[in-house]
Formats: sequence, structure tokens, C-alpha cells
Amino acid sequence: MTRRLLLLLFLLPFTAAAAAPPPPARAVAITFDDLPFAAVPTEDDAQLEAMTARLLRSLQAERVPAVGFVNEANLTRDDTLDPLRVGLLRSWIRAGFELGNHTYSHLSLNRTSLDAFEADLLRGETVTRPLMQSAGKPLRWFRHPFLHQGASPEVRTAFQDFLAAHGYAVAPVTVNSAEWVFAAAYARAQAQRDADAAHRIGDAYVPYMQAVFAQAEQLALDLFGRPISHVLVLHANALNADYFDALAAMLKQRGYRFISLDDALTDSAYASPAAWNGVEGESWLEGWARQAGLRPPLAPPVPGFVRQWAGAAALRGY
Ligand SMILES: [Zn+2]
Repeated sequence: MTRRLLLLLFLLPFTAAAAAPPPPARAVAITFDDLPFAAVPTEDDAQLEAMTARLLRSLQAERVPAVGFVNEANLTRDDTLDPLRVGLLRSWIRAGFELGNHTYSHLSLNRTSLDAFEADLLRGETVTRPLMQSAGKPLRWFRHPFLHQGASPEVRTAFQDFLAAHGYAVAPVTVNSAEWVFAAAYARAQAQRDADAAHRIGDAYVPYMQAVFAQAEQLALDLFGRPISHVLVLHANALNADYFDALAAMLKQRGYRFISLDDALTDSAYASPAAWNGVEGESWLEGWARQAGLRPPLAPPVPGFVRQWAGAAALRGY
């Protein structure tokens, strides 16, 4: 027996003992809001195309069946439909991803009359619906801007009827975060050509999202006594174009596999009674928890230097 083999046999039990137990089986559907883009360092055409290509390449490499939610107001430049920006949506569809409606101009259902909100929603399918149709797909998902679901039960019920009449299903969110604050900071650091700051912001993003997921997992356990299929909301921004790979690696390490929105919504958790008090920016999971008498935890803190870089943009909301 060689010395090397002896050493190996000696070390083997220790190696096995030191290995971490496998993570629990977890599932998440990943969605992107504010297409064709949010929080970019520049709206230069070539940069927008490169950013979109990077993000889509990462999603394809990880086989993420993502859905992207469009604000068609973002397709215009100087009040004119910009063919290049419509082309960005075509890239999503060509890459095999489904698009949904996020209203035309990102209105809040809590702060807008139902009539005005519904008109804005329909205006928001002018380009997207024919694009999806030409790919042989229906336009069927709706995501509430700001996650505002209406401030009264009457508005919520009336709006549900409107969505059903127009063939839309609601895309809920169970994992919400201040990802958009990191994205605003990242875009600003890049715009100022401060590569070091951009790196530090990007490196802080994934650990922050890990803390966000740990909280959502715990809240789901407290409420349902089991892990649930989550729905994560992110944005189509420069941060995710550069860091989605690292985010996906963290999620896979936690035991996640990437599932479609359809598959996530087969989880019976999504039939839970909703909270009706119109809390702003609250995820469905937090709403279910509050409805059940649980108090959702405070969100993990965003590091001070990230908030500083985000500046006024951090006050914008999502
Ligand atoms: Zn949005």
C-alpha cells in the first residue's frame, strides 16, 4: 500500500464527516419586471442590447423558465415607439421566454382609479400582445406594479373580474427585496466609471439576496409548516445582467431548482386567503402571514454604502 493511499484512507472518514448535509429540495420561479430595461448606466443602444443579451444568456445557461413583465412606456423614446427597444422584447421571446403585462406606465392600483388603471393596462398590451401572438403564444400574465393590489376589497374583486374577462392570470410574488436599490447603485457607479464601487455593490448583492431568501423560507415554514414553491421578482437591469450567474449559484447551493410560474402556482399555498388592507410593496407571502396573525420580519438591511450610491433613486420605489 502506498503512502498516498494510506493517507487517503486515514483522511476519508474526516472528509465525509466534514461534508455539509445536502440542502432541502426547494423550488423557485424567477420573474423580471420593468422590461425592456430598468436601472442601466446608459441608455445607449449598443449597451442596452449587450445588457439584454448577457441577461438572456445567463437565464438560458441556467435553464431558468423566466417570465418578463413589460411596461410599454419604456419602449418609447421622445414619445415615439423605438424599434430597437421593441427589438429587445423580441430577443426575450426569441430566447424562449414568455412576456407578461406590467401596465403601460407603471401605475399603482392603490393610488389610481380603477378605470384609469384598467385603461393603462390595456394600453400596455399594444405591442406585446401581437409580439407574443406572432410567436404562437398567448399574453396571459399580469404583474401589479409596486405589488399594489388595490386598497379595498371592492377594488380587488372588480379588478380580478376585469383580469379574468381579458384572459389574464395574476403573477404573485413571494420573495420581494430591495434588489432595485442595489441595481440603482450599481448603474450609478458604472455611469461614473467607478469600477471598484460597482464591484463592491455587486459583491454585496448576492449575500443580501441570501438573507432575503432565508427570511422568506422561514416565514413559509412558520405559516405552512413546509417549504413552498416561491416566486421571485427581479428587474431587467445591468446588475442582474452581470450578477445573475452568482445569484443562481447561491440559490442552487440552497437546494433550489428553477421552475416555471405555472408550476410554482400549483402549490396549494397560492390558494391562501389574501390580506385586504392594501399594504404597499408587500409580497403575497407576507400578506398571507399577516392574514394568519403572524408578523412578517423586517427586511434585511441594505448596506449603507449601497444606499448612498443609489441616492435619490432609492426613494423611487419599484
Ligand atoms: Zn415594476
